[in-house]
This record gives sequence, C-alpha cells and structure tokens, in this order.
Amino acid sequence: MSSGFTRSDGCDLCRAARITPWYYEDEICWVAECEICEVPMVVWRYHGTAPPDAHLAHMRERLREVATAQFGEFWVDDHMRNIPDHWHAHGRPHGGFFGHGFKRKTP
Ligand SMILES: [Zn+2]
Ligand SMILES: [Zn+2]
Repeated sequence: MSSGFTRSDGCDLCRAARITPWYYEDEICWVAECEICEVPMVVWRYHGTAPPDAHLAHMRERLREVATAQFGEFWVDDHMRNIPDHWHAHGRPHGGFFGHGFKRKTP
C-alpha cells in the first residue's frame, strides 16, 4: 500500500455503510445499489478521485458484471455529483438514468 491509499472519517463512501443491498466486494472496491438512484454503483475502497489504472479497469469490469446482470445494456456514469471527492461510478440502464421501476432481468 502506498501513501496514496487513504480513508477519510467524514466520508459516507469511506464509511461504506450497508444501507442498500451489496452485490460484490473485494479489497479494491465494492458494488452496491445506490440509495438515491436505485442502480448498481461501484465504489473505490480508498478516498480520492484518481484510482490507479489497474483499479479503474478492475472496478469497471465488476460494475459491468453487476449492471449487465440487472439491466442488460447499460452505460457507465462516472460523474460524481453528490460525493465529488471519492471515486465511484453508476451503471445506469440503457436510455435511462434512474433504476426506479426499471424492469430488471433478475428479481
Ligand atoms: Zn446514485
Ligand atoms: Zn471517501
């Protein structure tokens, strides 16, 4: 672990509270349903906005697995609106933004 991997006490994503279903987790990231959007969201385990390329590739792949299982076609939204200082990305249904009412492939 280099000094670039840190966590922040006041950050909701660092706290990683399990308030919604979690689909996946490992030492690099976790994938859970976004409380607001109701779509899968991949979150880096460390506080910051610039994960190394290897971590980015890993996280996009994990998000792809979860989002494809739920939506089929999806798009990656890595614009960080609510928590701009901790890297995370949403997998959103093709042609949509929120998961509310979207017909999932799996229950
Ligand atoms: Zn969201
Ligand atoms: Zn954080």
